[in-house]
Amino acid sequence: MKKEQLYEGKAKRVFLTDEAEALIVSYKDDATAFNGLKKGTITGKGVINNRMSNFFMQKLEKEGVPTHFIEELSERETKVKRVKIVPLEVIVRNIAAGSFSKRFGVEEGTELKNPTIEYCLKDDALGDPMINDSQIFALGLAGREELGLIAEYTFKLNDYLKSFLLECGIVLVDFKVEFGRTSAGQIVLADEISPDTCRFWDAKTREKLDKDRFRRDLGGVEDAYNEVARRIFGL
Ligand code: UDP
Repeated sequence: MKKEQLYEGKAKRVFLTDEAEALIVSYKDDATAFNGLKKGTITGKGVINNRMSNFFMQKLEKEGVPTHFIEELSERETKVKRVKIVPLEVIVRNIAAGSFSKRFGVEEGTELKNPTIEYCLKDDALGDPMINDSQIFALGLAGREELGLIAEYTFKLNDYLKSFLLECGIVLVDFKVEFGRTSAGQIVLADEISPDTCRFWDAKTREKLDKDRFRRDLGGVEDAYNEVARRIFGL
């Protein structure tokens, strides 16, 4: 049963339930970019992101990646395990884009020789600065074993998602995930896997099918989200 709101984020609301170890996440259509400076609405995105995250989390569980998913309750709401979020944004890249292209002066679209992993401290006030392994340990944000698991799960996710999406005619350029610790101390994938948090390009035309259409005012934002959903779910 849904109880009072615990937290409201940029794209989701989180509610307490009558179970101590479970929360309900409710996906909104609100969109933000550039650390909240740009705001808007992407009609229907909450429904798509809820369904897509749950779909991939169930697949990932079978691939040996533990997640916070418990049960999809409705179009926009999902019951998840209550976790403490590890305050890191974990980013994997297969193709150069966005901040990677800017930082290293590499043209967007350049294939990387191997997938890269990078960590950012989850802190809006600081602008989510990049942080390395030794800094993560020094600040006690995660232990060595935990970070090892986080990297292992994230690369597994990349392998699985990349090949699944290619079958749908979509290239997985990069993505961001977050992890949490359950009350038993288990590291699980939390947050979402969606066009908000992944770069998806059409495999043939390289057309952008993700939130970059909103960030860069490219138009056709809703159409892109619907197209990705159609290809994944065959709607
Ligand atoms: N990303 C995200 N939330 C953030 C920052 C990045 O979901 O706060 C995702 C983004 O959608 C992309 C990947 O992480 O798929 C890499 O983003 P990048 O570092 O290139 O930053 P951006 O160009 O999005 O600012």
